[in-house]
Amino acid sequence: MTLIQSIMDLLFPPQCPFCRTPIPVSSANTEDSIPVPWDRCSVALERLVCFQCLEKMPWLVNCCPHCARPLTLAVHNCPYCLEQPFAFTYCCALASYQGALRETLHRFKYRGEKALAVSLGRLMAARLAGMPWFSKVEMLVPVPLFPQRQRLRGYNQSVLLARTLSRELGIPAEELLLRVRDTDSQTGMGRQNRWENMRGAFEKSGRWQSKLEGKEFLLIDDILTSGATAHAAALVLKEAGASCVSVAVIAR
Ligand SMILES: [Zn+2]
Ligand SMILES: [Zn+2]
Repeated sequence: MTLIQSIMDLLFPPQCPFCRTPIPVSSANTEDSIPVPWDRCSVALERLVCFQCLEKMPWLVNCCPHCARPLTLAVHNCPYCLEQPFAFTYCCALASYQGALRETLHRFKYRGEKALAVSLGRLMAARLAGMPWFSKVEMLVPVPLFPQRQRLRGYNQSVLLARTLSRELGIPAEELLLRVRDTDSQTGMGRQNRWENMRGAFEKSGRWQSKLEGKEFLLIDDILTSGATAHAAALVLKEAGASCVSVAVIAR
């Protein structure tokens, strides 16, 4: 931690993104008692999440590397991947979409709490850094919103997350995709319809360049449910020439 960061933490103690309690600076010294949910973790999680939430959050640990579904079977047997082969190769998700995480994402997306992109992005960065496949990723690509929807919201939460991740991980982020169809309201739609509805929802943006062909990309989004959105976005990048596309989300 830099000196400036330490001073900032003293003046403005970081808050837990999930329950908003201030995280005491001294907690950095109680490392022994902190339950770390993941095998490899490069950062001090106790600086990002309060102890209670760190313990309670339904972190995704034993899950399919390709689609991040919680697994009880052997990895190569993920029934979801067999049923629906995805255009993306790997998926990294922080935790299950429930409880405090669900409320936090709601504040982040619909209540204008843009600052959550920093704490949630740092958590994603900590998780990603431990993924064996992550070192090959060369560029981050936020999943775009339909322009009209973005104007209403005032921001795209995935772009904000990608910015934090880019800073934390030292990997460039580019808005290489456009959402050309409004497909956001998929609630109440059956699974098959969701997949059909996403077809042709994305196109490559004017920022795509031929020198990006053959590179490995990581799509950034807040949540992955059916996987139809990430699949459609990954397809466009692969058709444009990406050699590999993976996905990182907060919730699954
Ligand atoms: Zn908390
Ligand atoms: Zn799977």
